[in-house]
Amino acid sequence: MKNLKVFKFGGSSVRDADNVKNSASIIVSFQNQPLLIVVSAMGKTTNALEEVVGAHAAKNGKALEILNAIKEQHYQIMSGLFEPGDEVYAAVNDHFVSVEWVLEEEPHPNYDYMYDQIICAGELVSSVILAAYLNRIGLKTAWLDARDVILTDDIYREGWVQWDETVERAKAKALPLLEKGNLVVTQGFIGSTRENATTTLGREGSDYTAAIFSFCLDAEEMTIWKDVPGVLTADPRLFENVEKLDRLSYREAIEMTYYGAKVIHPKTIKPLQNKSIPLRVRSFIDPKGEGTLISGDVEDNYPPMVAVERHQALVSISTRDFSFVAEHHMSVLFSHIADLRLQVNMMQNTAISFVVCVNDIDDKVERFAQSMQKDFKVLIDRNLELITVRHSLPTVLENLRKGKILLMEERTKDTVQMVVKNVQVLDWKGD
Ligand code: ADP
Ligand code: ASP
Ligand code: MG
Repeated sequence: MKNLKVFKFGGSSVRDADNVKNSASIIVSFQNQPLLIVVSAMGKTTNALEEVVGAHAAKNGKALEILNAIKEQHYQIMSGLFEPGDEVYAAVNDHFVSVEWVLEEEPHPNYDYMYDQIICAGELVSSVILAAYLNRIGLKTAWLDARDVILTDDIYREGWVQWDETVERAKAKALPLLEKGNLVVTQGFIGSTRENATTTLGREGSDYTAAIFSFCLDAEEMTIWKDVPGVLTADPRLFENVEKLDRLSYREAIEMTYYGAKVIHPKTIKPLQNKSIPLRVRSFIDPKGEGTLISGDVEDNYPPMVAVERHQALVSISTRDFSFVAEHHMSVLFSHIADLRLQVNMMQNTAISFVVCVNDIDDKVERFAQSMQKDFKVLIDRNLELITVRHSLPTVLENLRKGKILLMEERTKDTVQMVVKNVQVLDWKGD
């Protein structure tokens, strides 16, 4: 759609009533053009809902109590935005009641399925609240259920988008709302299967949702509103002396985010790159700031950049009978990796062994090890960190290695990757 902008507001930009008002004031300043807004769950709601899921699965009697605390937080935020008795309270309550129904049942044997049916409440209620608030301040706003648009397969917690149908549905459901002059508010992170069961796209997936809508509706530009001035050369929570990057290529952005730069979800870039849709990362604290522009045509002249991915495991697999790993076993290893949707960050092999560095999420590493144990000797080293440095300088690497045990390293033209034990906050530029 001509002139369409897609905005994504993350959890921190709507974490309390003042922040909802601030996000709304940004939206007001763009109200004269078509705008689709994707919003995440408020603050740390998704983490809290994960506790509800865990408590329900463990049948420890705490699930409802945790859910009530989440409800309370939302009512508290709403009291700063609406009059008592506003119809938004009932709309929000309906979504919490749906979770209560799940909690009244025995825990579903498929944990991941149950997780998605509960966890979606965070995005549903935040989008209801934001849409109601925008209407209250006079912006004609339509609420769109993202599950009516984003069709996924039925791998819960990690749904893969079925693109053709999703494009069709976006055109059928979202376009008419925009064409009638509405602002459209929808949820990040959630989708649904063909049987209408809710799925999620993976933690932090709201950025990806915004990219899906941008792709399907041929947006002119997508913007992610963040609590940082833009994409920085490293995570400011871990490093000092970080600098904002004004421009970044899709390629550079995808390489950094895949390896842990938490500022953008890694799946976000591909749909945008495929349609040459520029991505801006801007600050909701300083909305006048230029932010970072990510697009196709950027000169390759970057300062050193660092991404740190925590929760890494090294899995070493060796053959028991001294057969060559590469000749006989690679396809078996890779098919197990693919079945589990394990993210492989680095790998190396010797004559009879194969070592992979993977994201250590849930029980995936154990399941991987178990599936290998019958035929191979398997060793696991956990609680590791993966440091990825692009466009490195010798002093940077030297500083990054201080105080750490280096377990694996790999160098290519623009990238150095290290799997290490124990990362501390340090001054990586050494000044
Ligand atoms: P949201 O509320 O939108 O989901 P997040 O808290 O998930 O936002 O992500 C924003 C945070 O990402 C920033 O506060 C910053 O600490 C972190 N971050 C990690 N790497 C980078 C980077 N390279 N540039 C900017 N921010 C980064
Ligand atoms: N609320 C989800 C999460 O915290 C999705 C997102 O914020 O992007 O993972
Ligand atoms: Mg986030």
